[in-house]
Amino acid sequence: MSVHITPSGKKLITVIPGDGIGPECIHSALRLIEATGVPVEWEVREAGASVFKKGLESGVPPETIESIRKTRVVLKGPLETPVGYGEKSANVTLRKLFETYANVRPVREMPNVPTPYSGRGIDLVVVRENVEDLYAGIEHVQTPGVAQALKIISRKGCEKIVRFAFELARAEGRKKVHCATKSNIMKLTEGMLKRTFEEIAPEYPDIEATHIIVDNCAHQLVKRPEQFDIIVTTNMNGDILSDLSSALVGGLGFAPSANIGNEVAIFEAVHGSAPKYAGKNVINPTAVILSAVMMLRYIGEFEAAATIENAIMVTLEEGKVRTGDVVGYDRCNSTTEYTDAIIANLGKKPSQTFVREYRPIQLPQVTREPVMVRPQKRRVVGMDVFVEFDGTAEQLGKSIEQLAEGTALRLKAIASRGTLVYPAVGFMTDLVDHWACRFVLRDGEGELSDAQAMDLLQRISSRHRWTHVEKLHEIDGQPGFTKSQGED
Ligand code: NAP
Repeated sequence: MSVHITPSGKKLITVIPGDGIGPECIHSALRLIEATGVPVEWEVREAGASVFKKGLESGVPPETIESIRKTRVVLKGPLETPVGYGEKSANVTLRKLFETYANVRPVREMPNVPTPYSGRGIDLVVVRENVEDLYAGIEHVQTPGVAQALKIISRKGCEKIVRFAFELARAEGRKKVHCATKSNIMKLTEGMLKRTFEEIAPEYPDIEATHIIVDNCAHQLVKRPEQFDIIVTTNMNGDILSDLSSALVGGLGFAPSANIGNEVAIFEAVHGSAPKYAGKNVINPTAVILSAVMMLRYIGEFEAAATIENAIMVTLEEGKVRTGDVVGYDRCNSTTEYTDAIIANLGKKPSQTFVREYRPIQLPQVTREPVMVRPQKRRVVGMDVFVEFDGTAEQLGKSIEQLAEGTALRLKAIASRGTLVYPAVGFMTDLVDHWACRFVLRDGEGELSDAQAMDLLQRISSRHRWTHVEKLHEIDGQPGFTKSQGED
């Protein structure tokens, strides 16, 4: 991680005030940071609604990208995706453009913010992989009746996020990391995160490492959230678990986050632009302020970070000045009054609330070069051909078997949405217009050549519309594909 230092010796940060309540929250955070006297300078840039309205599809103008390339550290307000101005989210554009692979969401009980969990000492962090998984956004309509989304999980992506979670545990003096996956069902994709976690965990003998199935993780988070320290998980799981976790401690006004990459880090609240409160000076700026606290730690300003965090806790412990999400908007203090109260408490320590000691995080060393996983042995042992068809499984099976006669491949099975339908095994499967035909090498030996694959495809297309082909790989003797339900 490197920070841009200005000629006057200050750390330069890109600030994006954002939309809706964004500018108010960011203003509070900047006032607090400035009040600590920490040597930082802001470069204010635009993104979001105003940019979409100027007709820029990405919502992020080149000046903003240029600034981030230079400063590498961003404090941002929420960005709205206005309906009718292109489909892209400016947030997603920023995260992807700078490969901020780790989404970090601390969740902790706040003093005097009553919730059903008050007094249980919730203090956990959800570390969500932020780039891959279903959020790679690779979707196709395969047949008129069936669409697919590709769940892309890479070994490199898993390693980065797992190491990040363990390093974060060390930096924050935490003792446990849970890895939450759905590896019992998605053995190859979610399983890759589990396997990577289990391989890397022994490098961190000081941290207790436990795998947990993600649905149980959600259940345990509601039942006994205090058992968790750090939860590392894939993108989609993390999206859901982190929102669930935020709700345990008083909601979005208190939920900060960081998006951390190899070179760039973006700090922002979890909440959005809450347009109905925009400009009213009533919202809770704590989530953005705590995101700024995370940013200060990231740039090595630990003392200023602790000063602000302590002052927030003191203000909440005093309970004299509070925002509408805590006491109701008809009788709340203004955002400005709340910020003033925190500024007045800078330098004080909370009496009941525990504030952690933080150390600099050792970010995983990641090469920009493509990382190739090189197996000892590999071969292509067959292929899945996805076919559009509006008859019965029996009709398709017979037709395809006939077409495959004399080729290097034989039809092993046909599945409908993951369940075997041919040869029939008596499952009561609803049928649609999308069929997965699995072919394997007739003699089981050698490797399927592309010419053999093309030959079969050409034969199939003489009678049926095929939509998608997937080669079946065997890697180091292990099948690189799953079987459909009922397939032997
Ligand atoms: P939202 O802006 O997060 O607001 C939802 C509700 O959460 C608000 O109505 C309010 O609840 C509460 N809330 C949020 N922030 C608060 C704060 N600082 N203080 C007090 N209460 C707060 O979600 P949304 O209405 O679904 O989204 C609005 C826009 O924001 C959308 O365009 C969305 O795309 C965008 N968005 C951006 C980001 C981002 O930039 N990272 C994230 C999420 C959404 P009550 O109504 O109960 O008072």
